[in-house]
Amino acid sequence: MKRTTRDIRLANRFDVLRHIIASRAVSRQEIVAETGLSLATVSTLVGELLDLGLLEEVGYEDSGGGRPRGLIAVATGGGVLVGVDVAETHVHVELFNPKLDVLAEARLQPGENRPEHLVRHIVSGVRTVLGEASARPADSGSAPQMPPGARVLGIGVSVPGRVERDGVVSIPAPGWDWRGVPLRRLLGEQLHLPLYLDNPLRASTAAELWSGAGRGREDVVVLTLGTGVGAGLALGGSLRAGEWGHTTLVLDGRPCHCGCRGCVEAYVGAPGIVQHLRELAPDSALLGAGGQTRTSIDALARAAADGDPVAAKVVAETARYLGVAVAGLVNLVHPQVVVLSGWVAAKLGPALLGEVRTVVERHAPRRPSARTGIVLCPIASNPVSLGAATFALEGFLAGIGHRL
Ligand SMILES: [Zn+2]
Repeated sequence: MKRTTRDIRLANRFDVLRHIIASRAVSRQEIVAETGLSLATVSTLVGELLDLGLLEEVGYEDSGGGRPRGLIAVATGGGVLVGVDVAETHVHVELFNPKLDVLAEARLQPGENRPEHLVRHIVSGVRTVLGEASARPADSGSAPQMPPGARVLGIGVSVPGRVERDGVVSIPAPGWDWRGVPLRRLLGEQLHLPLYLDNPLRASTAAELWSGAGRGREDVVVLTLGTGVGAGLALGGSLRAGEWGHTTLVLDGRPCHCGCRGCVEAYVGAPGIVQHLRELAPDSALLGAGGQTRTSIDALARAAADGDPVAAKVVAETARYLGVAVAGLVNLVHPQVVVLSGWVAAKLGPALLGEVRTVVERHAPRRPSARTGIVLCPIASNPVSLGAATFALEGFLAGIGHRL
């Protein structure tokens, strides 16, 4: 892939800001040491971010007799970002400061996914978080505050479908059936703010790069494990999402809803895991009344932690399937880290992790120095809305040349 000077400059700008976000206060020299960029480059990039009000000078550190070094930090009053996670059954809107702390949130249940109906809910959620954060009294506890009159740097929206460059969205899934919906135009007509649309796999990956296990890394894979299963790949600074969930794991295996057989998703997606439990123990109490997938996964996680043998077997076998599927990716792209994200990873991840690591080591053996770390998503808040907000931050940073 060809990277232009502008791409490299932008990637460096992201890199510098990520390091500053990660620390309370940092000197230019420390950023040089951490990023490997030259002092001249770091000074220029920091200067641009200071001019934009995203950073502030916060004093000096004693450099042991030499000239004192200026310290810089993120200006938490430098503006706000909105991140929106549109999922099948909910819309989650969060407001962030440039340090990516959550300032306010709104959860909505639109009930149906017609475009104009959903647009109304997204707009209402965005207005709620902006209004709530600015209306909250300044002494309301220790939560980060939205400064009065803060400028909104942009709104990032994650939608589970194909998002074209012009903000037109297609979601062929049941319950949606969106074909060429001009979502950015529909939202823009009401919100009048810079809008950045993308999908949840890429949003989860961006969240790890900015604020999670991918920070400071070049090659990162984020696997979203939920009802569906997918992969986001950040390789050498470029971000893409893949249909990893529908690569074949078992030849002539279980039927998958996509029409093929033996897909990864049919084994490590939530419905696949529950089916596995049903095949092993059709009368298991863990299957619960009503057969709700989420409830069964919850029960399975609790039972595995309590040492229930059937639950432990389902978890161990799921870990083996997942491990082999992860090993395939590791062999293909050699990431520095693979992050297990999504609600199934949040529930079952601690029980799966050890066996997944063992299986990956067996199926993707590498030099110890090049070994891939496999970790659970460390982000405490919703990584999808956070990632969507970082798209808005990146969009704002990409526009720097035009603003200064
Ligand atoms: Zn499939």
